[in-house]
Amino acid sequence: MAAKKKVAAKTAAKTTKPKAAGKAPVKAAAIATRPARTRIGVIGGSGLYAMEGLTATKWRKVSTPWGDPSDELLFGRLGDQELVFLPRHGRGHRIPPSDINYRANIDALKRAGCVDVISVSACGSLKEEHAPGKFVLVDQFIDRTFARVKSFFGPGVVAHVSMAHPVCLRLRDKLAEAAAAVGIEHSVGGTYLVMEGPQFSSLAESRLYRQWGCDVIGMTNMPEAKLAREAELCYTTVSMVTDYDCWHPDHDHVDVASVIKVVHDNAHNAQALIKAVAPLLADRPEACPQGCDHALDNAVMTAPAVRDRKLVKKLEAVAGRVLKG
Ligand SMILES: [Zn+2]
Repeated sequence: MAAKKKVAAKTAAKTTKPKAAGKAPVKAAAIATRPARTRIGVIGGSGLYAMEGLTATKWRKVSTPWGDPSDELLFGRLGDQELVFLPRHGRGHRIPPSDINYRANIDALKRAGCVDVISVSACGSLKEEHAPGKFVLVDQFIDRTFARVKSFFGPGVVAHVSMAHPVCLRLRDKLAEAAAAVGIEHSVGGTYLVMEGPQFSSLAESRLYRQWGCDVIGMTNMPEAKLAREAELCYTTVSMVTDYDCWHPDHDHVDVASVIKVVHDNAHNAQALIKAVAPLLADRPEACPQGCDHALDNAVMTAPAVRDRKLVKKLEAVAGRVLKG
């Protein structure tokens, strides 16, 4: 229960922070000059099902109006930094990419007080220079998924957010700084093609995606990134290259043992990367310079008088900032 109270207190601190009941909130100007403490959300993909080195840990169920997240959320600390970890496929890898409740996952992280979200995903490489074991800090996506719910919004509350720059470059740059500091081979920038799966791509598809200039291919970052933007979270992704996709001549000759070793090493490096980046994210600017935390400004098209009240209620956590009043 102590942890629960802490979540509530943290959320309150972000908005008004009254010193006592009945007193006036801290003035906006005072808040604006002070960097905000942040709680980092980490979404772990294939191979990354837990976070080592966390202290004061507690798995907690977080309910959302969109159903259940992939698993309970692991609340803990890395040094002074508060962190919440969510295994995207659930502990034990129970949920395939097309069946992940992406809306519940993002809503739950926002509800848990996360403002910065780092997504970690295993992926295949579409370029020779992205060898297995490399981390690609992508900044673009091509969404080829077709069997997933992709928005929190819908009939009764219509909204359009920009996805021109889908990842938060502030987070991306901090991850690059951390990767360099701990000696993880990585590259900054790139395009992640998101396929529906669960089967891997055919040779013709793999060649097509290479012609499109894509860097890596995976099955999970969409609609995750779109939903994070709708929820006004700062979101970025770490693509951990597991192997070359089938276009590569080596693809058919790789043995399972070497792929498993890469997955294991990648998970180890991902933990080191999160540990290194956490202190770099401790003091967050009051507003994201890229505007991720104001993505819904002018995005909602539906006039207040005709909004679906049930949907407005469901949107309380992700869009309450712009739907109130
Ligand atoms: Zn941002």
